Amino acid sequence: MSISGIKGMNDVLPDAVGVWQFLERSAREVFGTYGFAEIRTPVLEKTELFCRSIGETTDIVEKEMYTFADKSGNSMTLRPEGTAPVMRSIIQNRLAAQDPVAKLFYIGPMFRYERPQKGRYRQFYQIGVEAIGVEDPKIDAQILMMLHHFFNRIGINAVSLEINSLGCPACRPDYRRQLIQYLEQRLEPLCSECQRRYQTNPLRVLDCKVESCRAATTDAPAVVEHLCGECDQHFSQVRHYLDLLKVPYTVNVRMVRGLDYYVRTTFELVTDQLGSQNAVAAGGRYDGLIESLGGPALPGIGFAIGLERLVLMLDQDVVSTAAPELFIAALGDAAVEQAFILMSQLQVQGVRADMDFQGKSLKAQMRRADKLGAVHTLIIGDDELRSGQAQLKKMADGSQTSVRLDALLDLLT
Ligand code: ATP
Ligand code: MG
Repeated sequence: MSISGIKGMNDVLPDAVGVWQFLERSAREVFGTYGFAEIRTPVLEKTELFCRSIGETTDIVEKEMYTFADKSGNSMTLRPEGTAPVMRSIIQNRLAAQDPVAKLFYIGPMFRYERPQKGRYRQFYQIGVEAIGVEDPKIDAQILMMLHHFFNRIGINAVSLEINSLGCPACRPDYRRQLIQYLEQRLEPLCSECQRRYQTNPLRVLDCKVESCRAATTDAPAVVEHLCGECDQHFSQVRHYLDLLKVPYTVNVRMVRGLDYYVRTTFELVTDQLGSQNAVAAGGRYDGLIESLGGPALPGIGFAIGLERLVLMLDQDVVSTAAPELFIAALGDAAVEQAFILMSQLQVQGVRADMDFQGKSLKAQMRRADKLGAVHTLIIGDDELRSGQAQLKKMADGSQTSVRLDALLDLLT
């Protein structure tokens, strides 16, 4: 019996990879414009890193992590998200000592032990962005502008930006207490999950998808109404700058994020095109996170985009595969050898060239050229070798031109 892959972990096949490359290329291009540099961290980290940053009572740490002991008995975890590893790297490599303002992005796989379904996998890819060292609300607006810009660039418009503020360690504890009190009066209609977590993670009850939980908490106190002066000011500035930059958004006072480290600005980019997996990107501020991981007291803000969800939303035709510009069909040993040399020379010069390697008939070689979507074909036989001339056929209209073999390179480059 053949061995299959792991449930919830998918192959990206050659036919589909063009869309992925397009998304990655677009991200590099757009984020680069805003001065963000790429960072790559390992997929494996010490378990402690995620427990300490994401929070012990979050869904991710409670039940979604791929955690195992390595051969020395150390607890390792496949990264479930990208922010904590990037912060770990900033601290470890003292990046902030060189420049306290860092703008970084990453592209790579994340791992969560979730129930696989459309748009939700156990290995999935994120494109993430982190801006470190700036508390100014202009950077919040810039990050959101960049997210907006990226979605425009890739041609996905069916998304809307929802923002909220979660307050800070000065104002949230008081709000949290009030919310717990409020929930205590209404425990019965809540789902078992919310009944369990309303004391440890009361904010999460607010964005529970279960209808009875939503219905029971429609008039719950909102964080934005309990912000301290500074957070209130910060949030109104963020909205002001978003308005100035003409980035469309709505304030969703019920939106909370599933990770403990978020403070102040939080946001999600949602769509109605993916069923219940409605978030295509999400993020927020995490002032205090770097310090809590043993680094300098630097503020930060970032987001992560789920790549699979973008691929599901994008028309698969957006990007074509790399069809050859020239397919060389050859007949006879000498011609095949000459074609092989010619093809290799063209490839070195950056021309996408291809030929047959299976000793096929001329007719079969032409069929293959067609199947690959070659732009041109060139037929070489003994006559062509002797004269140094061959017919270059344009596949789109069948038109032919006579070309000198030694001038082919100039013609195609
Ligand atoms: P969700 O509410 O869909 O579970 P989340 O809040 O857990 O999302 P984040 O941790 O904020 O997600 O990750 C950012 C983005 O990564 C999400 O908006 C989504 O697009 C994507 N994402 C998260 N989990 C998965 C997954 N298991 N499979 C595919 N994409 C995912
Ligand atoms: Mg989740």
